[in-house]
Amino acid sequence: MKRVGAHVSASGGVENAPLNAQAIGAKAFALFTKNQRQWRAKPLTDESIGAFKANLAKVGIAPHHVLPHDSYLINLGHPEAEGLEKSRHAFSDEMHRCEQLGLELLNFHPGSHLKKIAEADCLARIAESINLALQQTNGVTAVIENTAGQGTNLGYRFEQIAAIIEQVEDKKRVGVCLDTCHTFTAGYDLRTPAACDQTFAEFDRVVGFRYLRGMHLNDSKPDLGSRVDRHASLGKGKLGWAVFRYIMNDARFEEIPLILETPDDTRWAQEIEALYALQEG
Ligand SMILES: [Zn+2]
Ligand SMILES: [Zn+2]
Repeated sequence: MKRVGAHVSASGGVENAPLNAQAIGAKAFALFTKNQRQWRAKPLTDESIGAFKANLAKVGIAPHHVLPHDSYLINLGHPEAEGLEKSRHAFSDEMHRCEQLGLELLNFHPGSHLKKIAEADCLARIAESINLALQQTNGVTAVIENTAGQGTNLGYRFEQIAAIIEQVEDKKRVGVCLDTCHTFTAGYDLRTPAACDQTFAEFDRVVGFRYLRGMHLNDSKPDLGSRVDRHASLGKGKLGWAVFRYIMNDARFEEIPLILETPDDTRWAQEIEALYALQEG
């Protein structure tokens, strides 16, 4: 079955996220396990961890249908030693928090070269950062999100994602999350069934569907190939509904978190319902 949800609030404690997901009819969700705009976070308390697990069980969402997202400050391909060290430390801490919560995935944006190192060097640093984090934790898969390629962010070409995965030692614990808005603004068309066929075939050829652990379902304000990251509510951007109808009716997207990161959270319940209504037969 398809597991549609949204990136819900964890305000007041991570244990509130499953309840916020249930309230909008979600069968999956994303969350930040700490404040995403700060480096430091208080460790999760045993009380909070226990309440999170109890609430997750209560709403009937499995751990592998939860797709936590890391802090926006982290750059696992940072060109400078200090920034790289700080990022690696923070990322391992986030992996550890997922492990404590009994979760199996951590979604992150690969990294940026900041015009200070070559692309290949940056990709190698990202892979090494993943290797270090995997060595320090158990049971959590590092899920690379494709980017729009805004600024100096890497991971907008499928080849760049493949290059990272190639250098990760434990291939069982690395995965990919495709964001429909990022895919489109990075230059891969998704506006028609034929375009979806072609783009996902290219993803399969270059990276492989076996690595797909989740999707972000967003319409796009900017145009194809603009390399700008601006999400739109479903049906309110340049993508239209074709790609969402395609995903909701394609078996390759079964049983992975399909997460809305659309800008208007008051529409999420409606958007989830609209996505399920696209299913045929
Ligand atoms: Zn995303
Ligand atoms: Zn985005």
